[in-house]
Amino acid sequence: MQLYEKTAGELHDMLRKKDCSASEAVESLIERIDAVEGKVHAYLTKTPELARETAKKVDERLAAGEELSPLAGIPIAIKDNICTKGVRTTCASKMLENFVPPYSATVVHKLEHAGTPVLGKLNLDEFAMGSSCENSHFQNTANPHDLGRVPGGSSGGSAAALAAGECTLALGSDTGGSIRQPASYCGVVGLKPTYGSVSRYGLVAFASSLDQIGPMGRSVEDVALLYEAIRGMDERDLTSAQREYEPLHGQLDGGVRGMRLGVPEEYFGPGVEDEVKEAVRAQIGELERSGAVIVPVSLPSTGYALSAYYIISSAEASSNLARYDGVKYGYRSENGSSLEELYLNTRSEGFGDEVKRRIMLGTFVLSSGYFDAYYKRAKILQGRIGQEFASAFDACDAILTPTAPDTAFRFGEHTADPLKMYASDICTVTVNIAGLPAVSVPCGKDKNGLPIGMQIIGRKFSEKTILTVAKAVETLRGGYHSLPQIG
Ligand code: GLN
Repeated sequence: MQLYEKTAGELHDMLRKKDCSASEAVESLIERIDAVEGKVHAYLTKTPELARETAKKVDERLAAGEELSPLAGIPIAIKDNICTKGVRTTCASKMLENFVPPYSATVVHKLEHAGTPVLGKLNLDEFAMGSSCENSHFQNTANPHDLGRVPGGSSGGSAAALAAGECTLALGSDTGGSIRQPASYCGVVGLKPTYGSVSRYGLVAFASSLDQIGPMGRSVEDVALLYEAIRGMDERDLTSAQREYEPLHGQLDGGVRGMRLGVPEEYFGPGVEDEVKEAVRAQIGELERSGAVIVPVSLPSTGYALSAYYIISSAEASSNLARYDGVKYGYRSENGSSLEELYLNTRSEGFGDEVKRRIMLGTFVLSSGYFDAYYKRAKILQGRIGQEFASAFDACDAILTPTAPDTAFRFGEHTADPLKMYASDICTVTVNIAGLPAVSVPCGKDKNGLPIGMQIIGRKFSEKTILTVAKAVETLRGGYHSLPQIG
């Protein structure tokens, strides 16, 4: 087994025992990127020199006999909507093509502090709007399990890089499913943390009340490790939660015996492919045989969640994206003889179609004639969805659903029909609407050998519970699997 195939946990053990150095780990990853990136296209910017520099420092500390943090020397890559000081942060948009942030996100500071070498910045749908990475201004990222298919989105670069062995850990962001759906399509693990547990400072805003940065990895323990490193109160984020967090890594082997696991019928309805339903139900059966108590629960407003999500997220996006005007920073049009024309041309030329669609939808639902009919009703629904989850959690400790209604689709299959693309989020958006944590873990394959993911949803701040269930699923499936053959 090569170093690039190892999990973060395995690499950490090797580093501690001096079975390899951080520099060797980083070199192995860089070689792997050179070998497969021409097929996968996960990276928008590569930073091998930065990674080498960090690894060298870690090796020096190791040689000096220092006790290292679990993430020291573990190569990571970062979704390109998270600001990295001195390293281009594009949001996969022409608008920010040459934007080099003068500051780093809080999560990036935390990684620096831990001594985590950063390999580069990963592709996404423009401003994290999309479900396939096809909305990137720069490139399409391929699914390592089938290069003719999408990796999901918007954190498709993160999921694909992990599945291809092009990084050991990755950061994504999730507004309506953008960590979990690509994790499901690429057969990796992704956690959307409780809203407020990870600082959003330095995450380029899409829909601030829903956005959350989260960890992605090839094993459940790796995701727990990264989550522990990035969570915590940050005074630079006013929605950041002040609380004590329990340790997770190495604490997830409790199993599901006696746990009450809720299954909502609404998530197994029409629109969800049969193979997906079967794989998730089969896994639920396995958990029951392991001692879990399966309880039916009801989340009746699920059918309205997608509409509520696209109204709320677009409303917030239309306001957040007002800052890209060609004056303050980012792309500026060469055309236009007045300030108004400068704004107009900059935004027309700088944003892609999907971003424009969201801005138009958002300004529409916020406009005075339509505010009550759309935005206000979506917010009422948001409250109801939260209450329905709260009553469901009276009867169970975690809720099990498919992560996505389907498996990875082919390039171009949904691009002509935005509603079809939006339907990809049918199982994930409720979690953001209610501010809950949820993890996607591989639970099977379809007839084409494409990964299927199970979503485990928990009460606020119950990451330990949902990761314990995820680990039980992973163990039942024989642990973390080797990388797919690429090409
Ligand atoms: N696919 C969803 C959207 O397009 C979710 C995006 C996200 O979570 N960032 O809005």
